[in-house]
Amino acid sequence: MAISSSSCYSLVLNTETKTLLCPVPGCKTRLTSGTRLCDEHSVAILQERKDLPNLSIIRLPTSNTNEFVTLFPLSKSSERYTSLVTSIMNDWKKQNVTDLKIETIAEIHPSPSQTKTFNEYKTMILNTRNDDDDVKDNVYNHNKVMALYHGTHQHCDPLLTTENGQLQSNSQVLCGNSNCGVCGVILNGFDPNKIGQNARGETFQRLGKGFYFAPHPSKAHYYSRGAQKCHSNDPTRKTQVLLRCLVAVGKPYHENVVQPKKTAPPEGYDSVYGAIGTCKSRGHGPLNWPEYAVYDPRAAIAVDYIVYSYTSTSEF
Ligand SMILES: [Zn+2]
Ligand SMILES: [Zn+2]
Repeated sequence: MAISSSSCYSLVLNTETKTLLCPVPGCKTRLTSGTRLCDEHSVAILQERKDLPNLSIIRLPTSNTNEFVTLFPLSKSSERYTSLVTSIMNDWKKQNVTDLKIETIAEIHPSPSQTKTFNEYKTMILNTRNDDDDVKDNVYNHNKVMALYHGTHQHCDPLLTTENGQLQSNSQVLCGNSNCGVCGVILNGFDPNKIGQNARGETFQRLGKGFYFAPHPSKAHYYSRGAQKCHSNDPTRKTQVLLRCLVAVGKPYHENVVQPKKTAPPEGYDSVYGAIGTCKSRGHGPLNWPEYAVYDPRAAIAVDYIVYSYTSTSEF
């Protein structure tokens, strides 16, 4: 499919508040609000133009369309990289790893179809809740689209990059297999058939059969255990992977009790939010950290692939 300038094919990250420089090395263009690349590099990277500086652009085919998802590993000196590292470190609230280090951040540029599906869903929610005073006044203190973290398993090795964002010589490119949790989400989105399948053997679904996201990467760390690998360059460290996702939470319902059988938010809501201290269950206690669940696969899209490393973890 040709890349269209039509707005339904462009992903607006209205969760980004700072205006940063385009992260392509040497580019001096300041990004407009909600974008991750300047116009020129947006087209160049998605079309894999060859005259780009030495970038390690990764293009992987989706399994259900003749389209590609593009991963763009960020240079570690780009403003976007340092800004994301600061957010991840600040939001890593639970002290569950020692000597945390961010190894790689790659922007995920979804296929045109994925972006269109997400944008249409987002627009539908915004229109549905437009007259809703709760949302308008933001009484829940939530935005309608949030950037949240998702942890899942990864069968293949993590992408490891150099300081300038190029793949390290011993780094593999992602496997692209839909049974690999991380690759599956990146290439094919959130799959309802995979709910409850994880490397932890964890079947408890506190807020029901949905897709789970956390404001704190330290919480998503628990769920990405199946992505844990020995660091290929440092035997004293382990690596794991998180996906930073845009999630159209719309109007979240604040749940107080466990609802393992839930398959949708209550009428009038778009997602379910579990706050700290709520949703106590026998054997699992209350929530120690907040989480969101959405039940519609169109409600979330992965936008950043993050590899981190640590020397030990208290979680598992
Ligand atoms: Zn640029
Ligand atoms: Zn994979």
